[in-house]
Amino acid sequence: MTGFEGSYLGAADKISPAAIMECKICWTPYDPAEGDDSRQIDPGTAFTDLPDDWSCPTCSAAPEQFLVREDPGAADIAETARLDAVTSALLAEFTEVWNAKMRDVPIVNKLLRVQAVGFRLHEGRPLGVLLSPWFMNLVLLPAEAEDWSDLTPGAKEIVHFPSGPYEFVHNTRDQIGGYKACSLFSAMGDFSTQAAAVDVANAVMVALFDAENRAETDRSADIRAAREADLAAEAEDHLPTVDPVPSRRQVITGGLGAGEAG
Ligand code: FE
Repeated sequence: MTGFEGSYLGAADKISPAAIMECKICWTPYDPAEGDDSRQIDPGTAFTDLPDDWSCPTCSAAPEQFLVREDPGAADIAETARLDAVTSALLAEFTEVWNAKMRDVPIVNKLLRVQAVGFRLHEGRPLGVLLSPWFMNLVLLPAEAEDWSDLTPGAKEIVHFPSGPYEFVHNTRDQIGGYKACSLFSAMGDFSTQAAAVDVANAVMVALFDAENRAETDRSADIRAAREADLAAEAEDHLPTVDPVPSRRQVITGGLGAGEAG
């Protein structure tokens, strides 16, 4: 994950704006922090932003002949690549579910489509909001060194964020493997546009990390009550019921969906 072999060869997506490069012919460095005085290149100019006619200040070799000496932004590049891979897999998986199973189900909101919103690494694990025509969930995926392929679908786990504890349900799918999901909205009828749903998803990602959203009540009692209500609901032949107590997700989604409807 640190740099790559051989010349850069114009592979701009492989180096970060902070990459320090060097000419492979004469070893002259290009450091973006310094720029290039001899060509009036200002400090702060990334190697990939150099003008087309720029060449090695010493031997005039073309930029394609430069190698990565050091790239302090390499971890960011790797992180971006990982998040891209994860969100692509989520999109592919749930678009397939949509096409295969959900398209003709009456409760779906056909104004919406599957989209991954706000994904970032949280303690090394990809975390974001997955929205679709039939649900909006917080989704947590394993860190690179973790294997969640043996998660038990339906098992529950409390995950803590600055705004409080949240109940996630374990699940597995072909393309994405094991993942954990916290339901934010289980019906999407209140959203009149994709943009409105994306706005709410982004707001959730902010609220999740805001300690001020921590309610004054006893968190564990709250969760326990919600869990007991869930179990009771399951016992009642899986009939849909309204949560008798405010759940964690209502704290961060409170009124958001309905507010976007008009
Ligand atoms: Fe050179």
